[in-house]
Amino acid sequence: MNNLITDIPILDDIKIHDESVQGTAFESVQNQHNPNARKLYIETYGCQMNFSDTEIVASIMLKMGFKTETNPKNADVIFLNTCSIRENAEQKVWERLKQYRSLKKHNPGLIVGVLGCMAERLKSKLLEQDKLVDIVVGPDAYRDLPNLISEVDSGQKAVNVLLSLEETYADISPVRLNSNGVSAFISIMRGCDNMCSFCVVPFTRGRERSREVNSILHEVEILLKEGYREVTLLGQNVDSYRYHNTNFAQLLELVAQMDRNLRVRFTTSHPKDISNQLLETMAKYNNICKFIHLPVQSGNNRILNKMNRTYTREWYLERVQTARSIMPNLALSTDIIVGFCSETEEEHQDTLSILEEVRYEHAYMFKYSERPGTLAARKYPDDVPDQVKTRRLNEVITLQTQISREKNLADIGKTFTVLVEGASKRSEKDLCGRNDANKMLVFPYKEGVKKGDYIQVKVKQATSATLIGEIVD
Ligand code: SF4
Repeated sequence: MNNLITDIPILDDIKIHDESVQGTAFESVQNQHNPNARKLYIETYGCQMNFSDTEIVASIMLKMGFKTETNPKNADVIFLNTCSIRENAEQKVWERLKQYRSLKKHNPGLIVGVLGCMAERLKSKLLEQDKLVDIVVGPDAYRDLPNLISEVDSGQKAVNVLLSLEETYADISPVRLNSNGVSAFISIMRGCDNMCSFCVVPFTRGRERSREVNSILHEVEILLKEGYREVTLLGQNVDSYRYHNTNFAQLLELVAQMDRNLRVRFTTSHPKDISNQLLETMAKYNNICKFIHLPVQSGNNRILNKMNRTYTREWYLERVQTARSIMPNLALSTDIIVGFCSETEEEHQDTLSILEEVRYEHAYMFKYSERPGTLAARKYPDDVPDQVKTRRLNEVITLQTQISREKNLADIGKTFTVLVEGASKRSEKDLCGRNDANKMLVFPYKEGVKKGDYIQVKVKQATSATLIGEIVD
């Protein structure tokens, strides 16, 4: 999922509740009004983990006295928090760096930093490849930013791409930059041990490590005080969370028990870790949303084995069946890769048929993009021609869009509990919010209804992406 968020909101309206946030928030508001404060501009690429990391980076930089800036032209420091999951994600960053070259000509003191997975993958090569770059920082080295900034201030280039076996930034309060004030992500673990043969994440984010339980519950407490109504527990593979004797199902239960009006979600899951204990815990609490993002990647066993996904089609379908028997209204989404090394037409048909068999609410669908350093890049030729990949991708998208539309059309006439997130992007007159199944609903504004309210919405129309309805009492 590639989103580019450029503008960082000014932090004037942060509600100061909690002392630890108070520090950061107070400082950030102070900084914001300090005309001499250095200005930080960050843009973030890639997955939700990166957006959460940007909130950690902002917290560290604000503690150093920086203030946020929404226009790169006015910035003293520009950070690009990058993604490496596919080639085109990195291409976007190279393009962006080209665009910033002119800014440095006008402001030679401008500091440009590359953060995140691309920084970890390319390391100091980034400095050689593009003279514009002053700082290169990997996902586990953000605590070192104060030192790195002072190195650059003293005229050097600075790099820290050390991966850690412990780092979880548990004690750093994220500054909620792009939040709607209703729903927030909480990073509960970092890294991934799964070693899927196509994936660069284990190399750019390191080994799995889980965050201390109480630091997670404390963050939920802060969010509740600040009026948040929904939290999403976040990790590359949240289901393998384990801190001492607390596994993911137990952590999920602890969070759900904190406030029964707090909606609880989690992402991303690996099918191998979907335990019956987790499914039964989800079923036990109304405030744990009945939705799982469950990447399957392919519908064919030979390809699944070559991807090192550690499960078979049959095993995956058994998990889906069990989950739906425990939670009949369970909604599912997935990730699909087409055109993986040596994938035949028949094997592609297996991917199409698993979409028909599971009938997901939604899917993220991509062509295989060879990533340097991965097991697949080292062992398997990327031998499916690009136009074949494109044709297969279009077939998968066409089929899934039809399934999403049919499932949404089947919701017409139904009434759902919706958590209001704010004004709809469609029109000022409409509000929007999601139901338990993580589907977005759009409905006309009604007097007295505001962000953070739980309301009943009856569905009147549907597209493949959105349900359109009206508020019912
Ligand atoms: S589970 Fe596989 S695809 Fe997901 S981050 Fe880990 S290695 Fe990558």
